Amino acid sequence: MTERPIDTLSGSILAGLSCRCPRCGRGKLFQGFLTLRPRCDACGLDYGFADSGDGPAVFIMFFAGFIVVGAALITEVEYHPPYWVHAMLWLPLILLVTLGPLRPMKGMVIALQYFHNAAEGRFGGTGAP
Ligand SMILES: [Zn+2]
Repeated sequence: MTERPIDTLSGSILAGLSCRCPRCGRGKLFQGFLTLRPRCDACGLDYGFADSGDGPAVFIMFFAGFIVVGAALITEVEYHPPYWVHAMLWLPLILLVTLGPLRPMKGMVIALQYFHNAAEGRFGGTGAP
């Protein structure tokens, strides 16, 4: 049985969304909720390159804001419910639409970093320190 690294963008995105190694798609990416493992337990890829920063959280804030604020505005305009109904509706929805996709989104951003060989910018050009 031969092992073949992921060589397509869609394969890399799928591996990231499933929180798997961006190179082999088999090893786990996380050891906690958002903490990365030091390396892939299947192919040995060092995850030291991975630095998603605030990227996944920003994407999710835009997504969650669109859904929750839109739903709250529509509900308020159509039904005028008391404030406690808003709290009962939107607080759980906020948790669902922010915490739910955070891990897969971080995995996808890391997979895209790996696929595009993204790294921190450097001044110079000779590569010498
Ligand atoms: Zn791997």
